[in-house]
Amino acid sequence: MVTADLMEKLVSLAKRRGYVFQSSEIYGGTGSVWDYGSLGVELKRNVKELWWSSMVHQREDVEGVDASILMHPRVWEASGHVESFTDPLVECTNCHRRFRVDLPKVRDGQCPVCGTKEAFTEPRLFNLMFKTFMGPVEDSSATVYLRPETAQGIFVNFLNIQGTTRQKVPFGIAQIGKAFRNEITPGNFIFRTREFEQAEMQFFVKPGDDEHVFEEWKDLRMQWHLGLGIRPEKLRFHEHGADELAHYCKKAFDIEYEFPFGWKEFEGIHNRTDYDLARHQEYSGKRLEYIDPASNERYIPYVVETSMGVDRTLLVLLADAYREEEVDGEKRVLLALKPKLAPLKAAVFPLVKKDGMPEIAMKMMGDLRSSGIPSFYDQSGAIGRRYRRQDEIGTPWCITVDGQSTEDGTVTVRDRDSLEQERVGGDQVVNWITDRLS
Ligand code: ATP
Repeated sequence: MVTADLMEKLVSLAKRRGYVFQSSEIYGGTGSVWDYGSLGVELKRNVKELWWSSMVHQREDVEGVDASILMHPRVWEASGHVESFTDPLVECTNCHRRFRVDLPKVRDGQCPVCGTKEAFTEPRLFNLMFKTFMGPVEDSSATVYLRPETAQGIFVNFLNIQGTTRQKVPFGIAQIGKAFRNEITPGNFIFRTREFEQAEMQFFVKPGDDEHVFEEWKDLRMQWHLGLGIRPEKLRFHEHGADELAHYCKKAFDIEYEFPFGWKEFEGIHNRTDYDLARHQEYSGKRLEYIDPASNERYIPYVVETSMGVDRTLLVLLADAYREEEVDGEKRVLLALKPKLAPLKAAVFPLVKKDGMPEIAMKMMGDLRSSGIPSFYDQSGAIGRRYRRQDEIGTPWCITVDGQSTEDGTVTVRDRDSLEQERVGGDQVVNWITDRLS
């Protein structure tokens, strides 16, 4: 059973055990950006690697790219972000803080910070892109933006990638990278931040094929999340109504998770039509058409996009994996992450610090390390406490070297979820784990 204050528990566990820290904590921190600790970075890498593997390595029709964060400023004029990547804001005339008009309290006419009623200005549009200057001169001709989405790096490279890989439409381009949005109300831990990572794939299709390809990607992406072990009853699609659709979208579905603060999007599947390529063609003056090699037909492809927030997906995984249980009258907290996602795959314990047990355990650690299996060695404290520490960070298997190990070379492998213990030959442990990681 998990109580209502799950978010507080997650934030505390994440900090205490090294998943996520506040950025610049020694200066008081900032609520809008976060740093991943030694466990968090492993979880994040695992998510990104699984995504990349399923998107790029396991498909013949998707290629990768790694575009730069700073791009030509005209890109953002063409994409529509300079003009319309905005949120309407009101300012409280008492405390001078600014809020999005769609916040529940603001809709009721009350300032969420100072509580003053009916003291808001008229809404004004605020652009969410971060601006900076390229080069030494800080004037408007040197203005550049930190990209608010990774997608544009793909659109401007469409013909480069297509030409160099000789892919034929339909095909896709995938990218993982940082994006920046000067969000008005960041919050809910790593859910809404001002710097985050996106894993995006833009699939280029012949106009007319877009609708069925959209359905295919929509299903594939939901299956992928289910494959991460996320509970199906916590996942759903949400279709954008006409009032929610972005300016470039013909159709959009969000994949939502039921967070402790409600159902919210963590991935979007969008039919962007030929909007982006057509606009880049217009703004750059360069032809961005695809020429069908069989029919010589020229057209600007339509784009079906899958756009996942990596950090939000991490929050989904942590929230979904968090469990509290009672075992023999004692509370135990565990992160039931799938082994392929868990930052550490195994922990190795000598039952006691003598009788040759630490030496056997250290040798096993060496074998695990040289096989590239992230593992942890711990010989201090009661064995029960050592198990619980690993449960709390999601380590699927604890390997204990005991008296019997010194006689017959076997060890116990304890399963985090079932708590069952199995005796395995010490020299078989690496294979035993490898078999269970796929
Ligand atoms: P929201 O409505 O929550 O602001 P969005 O519709 O603007 O999200 P998209 O532009 O579709 O989001 O971006 C795709 C994905 O990028 C989102 O599903 C989300 O996972 C992630 N994302 C977007 N903005 C943020 C943010 N400020 N912090 C963390 N992740 C974000």
